[in-house]
Amino acid sequence: MQYQSIFSEIERQKNEMAQTLMELIRVPAIAPENNGEGELRKTEKLVQILEVVGFDKIEHFDAEDERVPSKKRPNVIAYCYGENKAEKLWIISHLDVVPPGEESLWTITKPFEPTIKEERIYGRGSEDNGQSMVASIFAVKALKNLGIRPKRTIALAFVADEEQGSMYGIQHLLKQGLFKKDDLIVVPDGGNENGSLIEIAEKSALWFRVRTIGKQTHASRPDKGLNAHRIGMEYALALDKMLHAKYSLKDEYFDPPESTFEPTKKDKNVDAVNIVPGEDITCFDCRVLPNYDIEEVLNDIHGLAEEFEKKTGAIIKIEVLQKTVAPRPTDASAKIVSMLTEAIKKLRGVEPKIGGIGGGTCAAFFRKIDVPAVVWSTIDETAHQPNEYAKIENIVNDTKVYAFLATS
Ligand SMILES: [Zn+2]
Repeated sequence: MQYQSIFSEIERQKNEMAQTLMELIRVPAIAPENNGEGELRKTEKLVQILEVVGFDKIEHFDAEDERVPSKKRPNVIAYCYGENKAEKLWIISHLDVVPPGEESLWTITKPFEPTIKEERIYGRGSEDNGQSMVASIFAVKALKNLGIRPKRTIALAFVADEEQGSMYGIQHLLKQGLFKKDDLIVVPDGGNENGSLIEIAEKSALWFRVRTIGKQTHASRPDKGLNAHRIGMEYALALDKMLHAKYSLKDEYFDPPESTFEPTKKDKNVDAVNIVPGEDITCFDCRVLPNYDIEEVLNDIHGLAEEFEKKTGAIIKIEVLQKTVAPRPTDASAKIVSMLTEAIKKLRGVEPKIGGIGGGTCAAFFRKIDVPAVVWSTIDETAHQPNEYAKIENIVNDTKVYAFLATS
């Protein structure tokens, strides 16, 4: 395969890629949960772009949603057929963006008025997930321009609703029966700054609040009350130790390799130094390896709370704030993992690290049904922040990786 000519063609289109990303950023696609109108206008822009490239087929899978003016949340698939038409390389990016947040923090440009500064494109949705939309489109465009048919079919999916749980996005597409177990699935919605991280696994998340209730009294007469702060601290420390000791497994795929159990937010209690607090609130953020059952962890948390209640006479309430159960990891020996590993070695000259990180992307829905999926892209991790940006160099280089995956 004539990779050099493909790569030169991609480099030749650098400015066009930047302009295309800016066109996409100019059209906000915010979820109704955040008072947005959804993704329809952005999808219209996208389809104009796709039509110029000359895909072999463009399909629409709208999900009904009464909450947006158009009543639909659009999902688009664009195909470029390969020599082997049945074998599919999917690149799945999302159309929606998170709201800008505090506008005054956008010091480079306004969120939906993209600008280029020092070879970076600034704007909401530049990195998350516009960069990958553009890179996947231009991988096909370069092949089309050169008249090269890829080895396998490239299927680009542009999905709605990723930021709010994907009900109207990838979950809607999965119901159409479009995906097969041996499809090659890349979700370019996470990564690191040199593109060496291939994410195949994620941890479960468990956030909870510990509310300890005792009896408030004057600090000179603690015997007349029950110090909720002391009991709350003792419980939190005992819980911290117990969880670390029992759930101590290490999995080198993850960074950090072990489950984490962190006491984090501490709510204010009494206003004066001379009052024994009658209530104490401490929150925990736990990220648990997928090997463990999150319900068992939760049972242990409750069990220890009961023990402390008996011992102290206080009431300890556990309030779950968030519970996300991680699916089984993608097999490290899956074909897409080795293909991407080879591509990164060849094109970047770096040793890829196969691992697990935060999670919470479209890939989780594939893992849930045992379809291998990798999360990969080259980003500085500016998503969801003010002054979000995408490096033009990263867009160009990720495009090369997609073209390589489709043709090698
Ligand atoms: Zn994203």
